[in-house]
Amino acid sequence: MESIWKILFLSCLSVYGQSKVLSGSFWHITDLHWDPTYNLNNGNLAFACNSSGNRPTPDAGKFGDYLCDSPWELINSSIHAMRDILPEPDFIIWTGDDTPHVPNEDLGEEAVLRIIGNLTHKIKELFPNTKVYSALGNHDYHPKSQLPPEQNNIYVQIQKLWEDWLDPASRVTFKRGGYYTEKLLNQTGLRVLVLNTNLYYDQNSVTENIKDPAEQFKWADQVLSEAKKNKEKVYILGHVPPGLFEKKRHKPWFQPQFNKNYLELIQKYHDIIFGQFFGHHHTDSFRMFYKSGFPINAMFLTPGITPWKTTLPGVEDGANNPGIRVFEYDVKTLLVKDIVTYYLNLTHANIARPRWEKEYRLTETFMVPDASPVSMHRVLERIAEESCYLQKYYKFNSVNYDLALCDADCRVDHVCAMREVDFEDYKQCVVKEGASSTAPILFNVAIAVTLSMWASY
Ligand SMILES: [Zn+2]
Ligand SMILES: [Zn+2]
Repeated sequence: MESIWKILFLSCLSVYGQSKVLSGSFWHITDLHWDPTYNLNNGNLAFACNSSGNRPTPDAGKFGDYLCDSPWELINSSIHAMRDILPEPDFIIWTGDDTPHVPNEDLGEEAVLRIIGNLTHKIKELFPNTKVYSALGNHDYHPKSQLPPEQNNIYVQIQKLWEDWLDPASRVTFKRGGYYTEKLLNQTGLRVLVLNTNLYYDQNSVTENIKDPAEQFKWADQVLSEAKKNKEKVYILGHVPPGLFEKKRHKPWFQPQFNKNYLELIQKYHDIIFGQFFGHHHTDSFRMFYKSGFPINAMFLTPGITPWKTTLPGVEDGANNPGIRVFEYDVKTLLVKDIVTYYLNLTHANIARPRWEKEYRLTETFMVPDASPVSMHRVLERIAEESCYLQKYYKFNSVNYDLALCDADCRVDHVCAMREVDFEDYKQCVVKEGASSTAPILFNVAIAVTLSMWASY
């Protein structure tokens, strides 16, 4: 009898030991947007930073303001928080946008490179032995968003800054087009693809008439085809994502043809792609990819560190609290097992002290076993169908900044952006979901009436 218990105990131990070994974690940070002009002592409290444009900033504090890009205090605090929370990640993903939202005339090539250099230095200082996979953002160039499809001084200089993080072959393609591929942590069977999707951005007039800028699609197709042959598992990362912005109806980022090309690439190689990691939105969301109605892939949009309220026309109150994110993954299969987002309540940080706290864990909050495509599809369907999940998701979308009710229109915008990366399918979704949104409206009205009853008592 005793020996049976012993065997059971030992087998539990080995299962536990195995799962421990299989589980790894990495950081994803994005959109740091450091504004070096942020200054509370410039004698002009009404305007603490250039990135606010002409919006007054009477509430500006040590760690920033919702109308400004990040002060150095916030950058420093966020990277220290990473080290405090998870000092030894397997690697770090950093998906770009380092400079402030200011007119081109206020920056210039040298300023852009200096800003990227300082941020690189800070990350290296606090994570000296950690591999960083770093992608260019549309703000990591001068003039902004005009990233060229060939070698230029900025790619060459950034390559030098990131040299320690890049394999020799990566240095070559990075200088040529701002993209690269490597074995993930030098391991056989695992691969990472770092894309320069700024070449597909509709604000980029340099690449708008080029069929395949920097031949990145051709290159990616070759890399993925080779990876498939070698039975590799792949993560893809980049800055500007395909699909549409969930906070503004019918707002795409890619030029239509590039959006199609990207989707085709995922459709073709979905069985070896285990995660796509992007930024640019500054919000927390995700995108689904389907084949014949079956979920085949998920793209994770990590919130930004900058709290900057967007000036994009049509977006109301588009600021966020600074967010950073840990992905837990299976080190053998690259399955994304869980996502834990940490954040800084900026208002609280300025009044009291900077306290980075856990915002939520995906599996706990949305009741799914992991972050696989099938699970993310379930998360999306819960958000689409149940108001309590929609409201939770909406709060996380701005990293606990916008606590308003997500009404029927808001639901359509978010659900369709998450469900359909293809522009035409998105349009159809908006029509279909718009027509079926009467029930949530009634539900929201019911909540509003109930709340006002409570308020009046
Ligand atoms: Zn950005
Ligand atoms: Zn961007």
